[in-house]
Amino acid sequence: MPVRALAPQASASAYSATRTMLVACKRPVNYTCTPEVHTPPHGGLGCIERGVKRDSNYSWIVAQQKILLYYRFIPLADPYAVRLWQQTLCESLNLRGRILVSPHGINGTVGGEIKDLKRYIKNTKQYPGMKDVDFKWSDGSREDFPRLTVKDRAEIVAFGATDELVVDADGVVGGGKHLTPDEVHELVAQRGDDVVFFDGRNAFEATIGRFHNAIVPDVETTHEFIQELESGKYDHLKSKPIVTYCTGGVRCEILSSVMINRGFEEVYQIEGGIVRYGEAFGNQGLWEGSLHVFDKRMVIDFEENPVEIGRCELCHGATKFSQNCPNQECRKFMVLCLSCQDKYQPSDCSHATPRYG
Ligand SMILES: [Zn+2]
Ligand SMILES: [Zn+2]
Repeated sequence: MPVRALAPQASASAYSATRTMLVACKRPVNYTCTPEVHTPPHGGLGCIERGVKRDSNYSWIVAQQKILLYYRFIPLADPYAVRLWQQTLCESLNLRGRILVSPHGINGTVGGEIKDLKRYIKNTKQYPGMKDVDFKWSDGSREDFPRLTVKDRAEIVAFGATDELVVDADGVVGGGKHLTPDEVHELVAQRGDDVVFFDGRNAFEATIGRFHNAIVPDVETTHEFIQELESGKYDHLKSKPIVTYCTGGVRCEILSSVMINRGFEEVYQIEGGIVRYGEAFGNQGLWEGSLHVFDKRMVIDFEENPVEIGRCELCHGATKFSQNCPNQECRKFMVLCLSCQDKYQPSDCSHATPRYG
C-alpha cells in the first residue's frame, strides 16, 4: 500500500474551497459536503466526518481534528518565556496555528487532533492564572493553518493602546460588562431599538456577516479604531446602550475599555464573541450571515443555509464566499462568488493601494 498524505479534514462548516479531494472515504468528498449528504453509504467506514475510523479501502486511521480559540488577559512578567513554553508545547503536540503573547496576556488559535488539543488545554491551564481560560472549540483542522507561529509582541491585539490598557489578575480593568448570548436578548427585550450593536472587527469582516442593524466602523485594521472613535462620528451614541462584538471576544475586551475611556457611558461586550452567540442561536437570533475567520477556512457558519448578505465584487450576486486578491502585490480581501473565483485572474486586479500595505 503506497503511503498517501492525509488530505485536509472536510468539515460541515468549512465551505471555503470547492476543490474535490480524496480523503479516507470511499468516494470523493467535497468541501461543500454537509452532514446530511455525508452519511452512509457515502460516509462509509472511514468517512472523515465520522471521526476516528478505519477505512476498508485504505490503511490509515483518520483522527478527528478541531480548532481551539482562546484568550486570557493577565499580567505576564516574562512573555518571552511564555512564548518559548507555548512553542515547545505546540510542537510536541503537532499543533499549528497562531499564538500571540504580550505583557498583557495571551491569545491563541490552534488546530490539531482532539486528543492533542485536550492535552494542550490541560497543560496551558497549569500556568498560574490560566485555570479559568474559556477555550472555544470550532470545526476545522491543523491543515487550516500554513504553520505554527508563536510570537511575543507589545500587544495581543494591535489597538496601539499599550499605555492605556490596564490588566490585573481578573482581566482587563474598566472594560464593558460581559453579556451571555441570553443576556444580549434580555437587553434587547428591555431597551428595544435603543440598543446599538457595534462591530469590533475590521470593516471587511462585516461584509459577509454582522448583527442586525449593526454599526460597522470604517476601519481597515484594528490600529485605526482609536482614531475612528475620536473622530466624533459616533458621539451621538455615547449615552446609548452599546453591545460590542468580535469573533471570539478578545478585541472587544480592549475596544470596550477604550470606548468607556472616551465617554461612552453604557458599554457591553458579548462573552465569547460571535462564536459563542452563534453556537447558542445559529441563524435564529440577531446575527445575520456568516463569520469570517483568519485561516484557510475563510468563513464558518453556525447552521446550514445562512442568509447571504455579501455581494460578489464582480457579478454582484449574493454570496458568503471570499478570497484574498491573487495579485501578490495586492492581496486585498474580496467578496467573490465561487464561479467568479474560478474566472478571476491576478491580472484582473484593479484595487487601489490599501491604506496600510
Ligand atoms: Zn460573482
Ligand atoms: Zn487586487
